[in-house]
Amino acid sequence: MEIPKIMMAIVKTKKERGAEYRPIPVPEVGPDEVLVKVHAAAICGTDIHMYQWNAWAQANVEKAYSGLPRIMGHEFSGEIAAIGAAVKNVTVGERVACETHLACGECYQCKTGDTYNCQNIRRFKNGVYAEYALVPAAALVKLPDSMTYDQASVMEPFSVAVHGASLVRVVGDTVAVIGVGPIGLFTVKVARAMGASKIFVSDISEYRLNLALKAGADIALNSSEVDVVEAIKDMTDGLGCGTVFETSGNVTAVKQGFQFLRKCGTMVMTGLPSKPLVLDASDDIVWKAAKVYGVHGREIFTSWEITKGLIGSGRVSVDDMLTHRFKFGEFRQGFELAEAGLTGKVIFYPDSIAEK
Ligand SMILES: [Zn+2]
Ligand SMILES: [Zn+2]
Repeated sequence: MEIPKIMMAIVKTKKERGAEYRPIPVPEVGPDEVLVKVHAAAICGTDIHMYQWNAWAQANVEKAYSGLPRIMGHEFSGEIAAIGAAVKNVTVGERVACETHLACGECYQCKTGDTYNCQNIRRFKNGVYAEYALVPAAALVKLPDSMTYDQASVMEPFSVAVHGASLVRVVGDTVAVIGVGPIGLFTVKVARAMGASKIFVSDISEYRLNLALKAGADIALNSSEVDVVEAIKDMTDGLGCGTVFETSGNVTAVKQGFQFLRKCGTMVMTGLPSKPLVLDASDDIVWKAAKVYGVHGREIFTSWEITKGLIGSGRVSVDDMLTHRFKFGEFRQGFELAEAGLTGKVIFYPDSIAEK
C-alpha cells in the first residue's frame, strides 16, 4: 500500500464553533502503533459537543484529550496500512475497528479485570476524521468478513448498548429506553434481540421516535406531549418496567425513569446528566429496592465480541440506523443535521473512499 506524506483531515483548530478541513502530514508510526487507512467514520455525541464548543467541550476537551489543534472523531473502521516495529497482533491489509478507551494495565481496576474503567484512562493522541488514523495496536478489533466497514464504524457505540443490556435480564420482560439517540436506538435493537416482551421509548424528537419504532420499539412516547410516567404505568397494569435504560442525560427524564421503574427493577444509566440530579431516594431507590447501574464505555473486549456476534451473524442489523452519509469535505452538513436531532448515525468517508 502506497502511503502519501500528506492527508486531508477534519481538524478542530480553535476554541470556538466549527472545524477546518485541511491537509496535514500523515503521522509517523511508533513501535506499538498502527496506521489505519480509514474507510468509514461515525459522528458521536462528544464530536457534536466539540464541534459546537459548548460548556461540556470547554470543561472536558483539555482534560480528556491532548488539547488543540486536534483531528476530530473516534468511531471508525478501516484497513491496516502500516504497523510499528513491535506490533505482533495484526498485519497490513487486515480490516479493523478500534476501542477508544486505552487502559493503563497497571492500576487496581486493570489488575482486577475492570480494564474498561481504568483509573488512568486515556484517549487517542489523534482523532480519526482523516484519510489515515494512528492508533495503538492493543486497541484494535479484527472484523469478521461478513461485516461491512459502515457497520464496523458503529461497533464502538453499539458496544456501549451491549454493555448496558448485558448487566440485566430482559428476556420476557418490559423495558423502557429513555432517549433514542444512537445509543438508545442500539439499546432497543439489543433488548429486542435479548427477548424483551415490550419496549417503550421516550424522546422529544419525532424523527428519532419513528426511527426507534423501526429499530423494534413497541410504544413510542413523545415526552413533550404526554405524561410518560402515567402512560407507562397505564400500559403495564400499574407496575412500571422491569428495566429502564436511561440514555438521555436529561434530569427530568431521569427522575421520571425512576418513577416508572417497577419495584425491584433495574435502572441502567448511560446518559450523562448535564447537572446534579435530585431524587427522592426513599421512594425511588430504597423502598423500591431498585438496582442502579452506571455504564461507562464498553467492557473491553467482552462487549466488542458480543457486538461481533450480533451484527456479524446478521442477527441484528444496524444498516437502517445509519441514516446519513457525507464525504469529509461535507462535514458541516453532517454535524448540523445531527445536532438538530434529525439523524440516526451519521457516517463520514474520506473523499477518495466515497468516490469509489
Ligand atoms: Zn463515541
Ligand atoms: Zn488502569
